[in-house]
This record gives sequence, structure tokens and C-alpha cells, in this order.
Amino acid sequence: MRTMMTGAAFAALMLAACNPNANPQKPGDPAPPNPTQTVAAPAEKPVYRFKIGALDAIALFDGENPVKNDNQTFGVGLTPQAVAAPLTAAGQPADPIMLEIHPLLLRNGARTMLFDTGLGEGKGQLMDSLQKAGVDPASITDVLISHGHPDHVGGLIRNGGLAFPNAAVRMSQAEWASIRANPELADLVRIITPKVQAFEPGGEVAPGVQSQDTAGHTPGHVAYLIANGQNQLLYTGDLMHHWILSVEHPDWKVGYDDDQAAGLKARLDEVTALRNSGAHIYAYHFPFPGLGKVATREGRAMFISEAQSAKD
Ligand SMILES: [Zn+2]
Repeated sequence: MRTMMTGAAFAALMLAACNPNANPQKPGDPAPPNPTQTVAAPAEKPVYRFKIGALDAIALFDGENPVKNDNQTFGVGLTPQAVAAPLTAAGQPADPIMLEIHPLLLRNGARTMLFDTGLGEGKGQLMDSLQKAGVDPASITDVLISHGHPDHVGGLIRNGGLAFPNAAVRMSQAEWASIRANPELADLVRIITPKVQAFEPGGEVAPGVQSQDTAGHTPGHVAYLIANGQNQLLYTGDLMHHWILSVEHPDWKVGYDDDQAAGLKARLDEVTALRNSGAHIYAYHFPFPGLGKVATREGRAMFISEAQSAKD
């Protein structure tokens, strides 16, 4: 179920989305009348424009990823019925479990940054979304990679060459080492090597963008904190995958995690931190455009969308 909002509500949400101090959600806040219906506000795919302070940002739809509920991906070791329970309670499909994929574009001065690149040629729609947004792939100056899984790096190459020919490709040193060690990614490595600038997580990687070491899902996974003035947005990569399962049950094992124990710990730590901070997040696999925060409702963690329904 989706909730429509209009007029002043949009304006308030837009302010809230851009200001980390606005409308802070604290544990113990009264629950809304119908918490299980708090889902992403409607946004027409494939392009969703928003602001981070004075910076222009665009969510770019790439595709959907339906995941079979067979206890291999979400809730490894649990029954499909147990995994289905919180989804059904929220009125969401339990099999397949639906993930979405949406890279983020950010402009800061002369820099045009793309965060992750989707599934790639023949699989994802990122190039169509960029065209709809009026962004020339050759104008992108920086591609910031969260980690080396195919739904994040697949779009780096196109027609046997670089999809973003003028962009530096930035990722953590640990992730670059992991990608280079993967024989399945040999072609990708050969093509992108001249463009890769690997970094040690924890510092500024582009104007207004800091990387955060969130290893676990992969050996060098990073999140990116985008800041402009008092406004902040955390690009979470694959710290969380599903807007209900990952948030309500971060302690369930996930088959997508290279190291399931390390992935679980990183996810649990992040959900706990987000629940306490009320920080604004951009979640790559949540319902498009994946903007919102993690709050506590009736004693449990929930994703609260902060997207408005303005369209491109
Ligand atoms: Zn992913």
C-alpha cells in the first residue's frame, strides 16, 4: 500500500529530507496510526530529483531484482514461512521478495558523481535513466563504487569499453584487491584498471563525500556520507538489502554476504546506529528512490520513506 501526500506535506518532507536536524525520530516517539502501511511514497521511475542542501541529486532507476524465498538469501537457516511473516504483515510480497536497484547521481560544482552503476548492458536500465535525466555519460567525472558485486559494478563497462570514459573509478583498496582476485571479473578489471583510484576508507573521496569503512557484506564495502552545510545523506550501498527484512531483522543471515557473520555484524551495527541517529539514508535496494530513515515504531525498527511524489 502506498500513501499519497500533497502540498505542504511535500514541502515539509523535502525540508526534512535535506536537514538532518529536522524532525528527529527518537526511540519512544508515538507510533503512527497504522505503522505497517508506512511504505515508500510514490515516485515515477526512472528518475527522481532531490536536493542535499544546495547540491542536486538524482535517483536513477536501473531495475528490479526478485529474490526467491528459499532461505538461501534472506533468513539463511530459517524457514520460508518465518521469512514471509514480517512481509505478509506489512502487505508485501513474500515470494519472490522484491529488491530494486537505483544508482545515485550527485552534482557538486564541476563534479558529476555516480554512486554504483547497476547491472549493466542488456540487464539494467541505467543508461536509459541517465538519458531521461539529461545526463551525458561522458560528463560523469567520478564513479564511486560501494563494492564489487555485479549489480553495482556491472554498468562500468559497455560495448567492451568504459561506459563512463571520463570518470575516475573510486573504491576502497580492499575492495579493489577483492575484485582483482575474482576471475569472473577479469574483463572488467582489464577495462577499468587505468581509471581506478583506490582509497583507504575514512576520508574525503570527492568534494563533499566521505567514505566509511563498512566491510562485512564484502571485504572492502564502503558507505558514502554526502554533506553540504548542515545537510547530510548516507549512501548505504548494501549494508541493507530489503526495506523490511534488513531493517526489522538485521540479525538474520544473508546469503548475499560474502562473509555471513561479518555481514550480519556490519548490518546490525548500522541499523542500530541509524535507529539512534535518525540519519537520512539513500538505500540502493529499497523501494525507489530509497530515501528515508530508520526509526523505532512500537518498539521495532522500521524504514520510513522521506521521498515525496514529485516527478521528473
Ligand atoms: Zn547490491
